[in-house]
Amino acid sequence: MSGVDKSVRVRFAPSPTGYLHIGSARTALFNVLFARANNGTFILRIEDTDRNRYVEESMEDIKESLSWLGLMWDEGPGVGGDVGPYIQSERLDIYKEHADRLVETGHAYYCFCTPDRLDELRKAQAAAGEPTGYDRRCRDLPEEEVRRLLDEGVPSVIRFKMPLEGATIVEDVLRGKIRFENRLLDDFVLMKSDGYPTYQLASVVDDHLMKISHVIRGDEWINSSPKHVLLYKAFGWEAPVMAHLPVILSQSGGKLSKRHGATQLREFREKGYLPEALVNFLALLGWTSPDGEEVLDFDQMVSSFSLERVGTSPAVFSYDKLDWLNGVHIRRLDPDEFSDRCIPFLQRDGLVSNPATSEEVAYVRKVAPLLQERVKLLSDISDMSGYFFTDEITHDPSLLVPRKMSKEETASVLRKSLEVLEGLDDFSESALETMLRSLVDSLGLGTRQVFMPIRVAVTGSTATPGLFETLHVIGKERVLERIRKAIQVLQEQ
Ligand code: GLU
Repeated sequence: MSGVDKSVRVRFAPSPTGYLHIGSARTALFNVLFARANNGTFILRIEDTDRNRYVEESMEDIKESLSWLGLMWDEGPGVGGDVGPYIQSERLDIYKEHADRLVETGHAYYCFCTPDRLDELRKAQAAAGEPTGYDRRCRDLPEEEVRRLLDEGVPSVIRFKMPLEGATIVEDVLRGKIRFENRLLDDFVLMKSDGYPTYQLASVVDDHLMKISHVIRGDEWINSSPKHVLLYKAFGWEAPVMAHLPVILSQSGGKLSKRHGATQLREFREKGYLPEALVNFLALLGWTSPDGEEVLDFDQMVSSFSLERVGTSPAVFSYDKLDWLNGVHIRRLDPDEFSDRCIPFLQRDGLVSNPATSEEVAYVRKVAPLLQERVKLLSDISDMSGYFFTDEITHDPSLLVPRKMSKEETASVLRKSLEVLEGLDDFSESALETMLRSLVDSLGLGTRQVFMPIRVAVTGSTATPGLFETLHVIGKERVLERIRKAIQVLQEQ
């Protein structure tokens, strides 16, 4: 069905018009998975022929984002390859030559209509309730007239001579045959007056010259596909296999937009999603694993990926599911690895210096694993662990004093705790536990009544990792100092 008998060459062909969108990342991923699953080649091609929408930093962002996701290209910018260049603005001669060829073979023609004329035409058509589109005025200009206008330097574009009747069938491996009536298709532009090709021409020429076997892209390109099929025919080339991935919708049904949350890959990265989790999540936007398993690593996806298991119904983007998967992948990390991934976030929030010293790295490797169970986003780490890094603890008496206890009683518990902790030379978890449990017994109080004031005194918070490990990691001197301060706060009340 998916025609994987020929050698697989696929491409991700973003237009550098902004930061990489999460939906485009899904397209890139499906191409990579398909390539890897079939021992194929994954190509990155930059489609920068729309100069009005060109955004300078976009290309860097695309490359960085793909690398961060682990979706490395085998051919493309920075890597090279036999069929480059891989940036379309560096291939203008190739497109010109191909457009000329179509003019020579009668499949395309020069059009000299001005933007003003086209504008008026569109308005008139709209006012008359007719479909808008080019009226083919220049389609049959006599050859001498075309020569003359070209010689005079009148600006022109090259348009495709759309068949006026019949239908074009697009074979999509996911959707089957899709039929387009030719008379409803426009004589679309191939070469613009600025000397740049349109997406349609450049995409077909490059897919052919780059020997692309399968075009896997978002479903918003379905309506372009009959144009591509006709272009392949006009050139006398075989078209690649096409697969249009299902649309990605928000949970409320519409297109995913800023309103729903992050949409650019870099935003997800900054929020502290793991690339492993994003890749896992994106794979499930349109594909299901054979056994229905949802938590997958990259190799598992590669070994079970096929276009047969890609659906056509809309894929719903659930931020909750992504958060859940992120938590799952965080918990799967080796503790040191998890700690190291937290470091950039701790640095960003000023809790660790940049570059981190080896002592800081060692300390983070003690602290972060205590929170690994509870962190959902790496960026949570600073809020959750601030008290490990800074001694400026805010002591809120309403948190320090447990229910059914007075301020005085709490202060007294803390004073007793301080006393025993001062005398404790071995600040290991087990020594702390033995000592504090016997303190609870000797005071005749509940565990909570003793442990909670200590916890809040040392961390400022009621929700922390286990008390003994927390005290152990923070260390004796800092623990004692914080308890002294808490006692003072209660006394000053
Ligand atoms: N440059 C197009 C884009 O921005 C590529 C579409 C295609 O894959 O053919 O998505």
